[in-house]
Amino acid sequence: MTRRKKIYEGKAKTLFEGPEPGTIVQYFKDDATAFNAEKKDVIEGKGVLNNMLSEYFMTGLGSVGVPTHFIKRLNMREQLVRSCEIIPLEVIVRNYAAGSICTRLGIEEGTAMPRPIVEYCYKDDSLGDPLVTEEHIAAFGWASQQDMDDIIALALRVNDFLSGVMFGVGIKLVDFKIEIGRVFDGDFQRLVVADEISPDSCRLWDIETGQKLDKDVFRRDLGSLTDAYTEVAKRLGVMPKQSTPVSKPTLIN
Ligand code: UDP
Repeated sequence: MTRRKKIYEGKAKTLFEGPEPGTIVQYFKDDATAFNAEKKDVIEGKGVLNNMLSEYFMTGLGSVGVPTHFIKRLNMREQLVRSCEIIPLEVIVRNYAAGSICTRLGIEEGTAMPRPIVEYCYKDDSLGDPLVTEEHIAAFGWASQQDMDDIIALALRVNDFLSGVMFGVGIKLVDFKIEIGRVFDGDFQRLVVADEISPDSCRLWDIETGQKLDKDVFRRDLGSLTDAYTEVAKRLGVMPKQSTPVSKPTLIN
């Protein structure tokens, strides 16, 4: 890691000041947390895989005209992004029931949603990121009505893109979470997809076997998280390049 000024340390990433004003370096750690950080571990290689996968998804979104904060990947663990003001919401899109919606509404895991459902959680770890409605968001000024319309449109475009990409490699996109940032161009404000998109923030099931290829592997102790994320990366053709095996030095007499 280079000597950069740390701005913020989160659970899975550390943010550093970027080389130019208005830029930030996101460093992907190997730390895995679940259940509001009650369960923790270090999963070797997770940060590298998420950095590569997030680059892949953000670049793909950019290429179909969905604005993101992503600028470029710098190395195996770091990427350069535009600095933005993060709206304090987790925007969740669900195509099939899993996780909290199953317990909240008594729906069986895997049930197809009648249509993609967009939910919002207020980003506050001390409160456990509670579910909120558009009423709360507007009344407490976290986002305007216009922002909300833009956020829904962005979230559904991300859903269409990611669902298609994942379907193409035999994976069902069950649900995912994104974060939205505001970037300012003079007096104008634009909303962009920020943070990361990776198997840490999506539920991904193999279409044929139903095998889980996302953070639920860690949450529920279902096996190796690195193997699951590597499988996703391999299918998408974004495996980090293996370094050439280095043979031990041999003594020359
Ligand atoms: N999610 C996330 N960060 C969070 C909460 C949820 O990335 O802090 C993702 C999660 O991985 C899943 C989707 O959002 O893909 C929906 O999560 P859910 O509401 O079911 O919460 P969970 O039961 O996973 O805590």
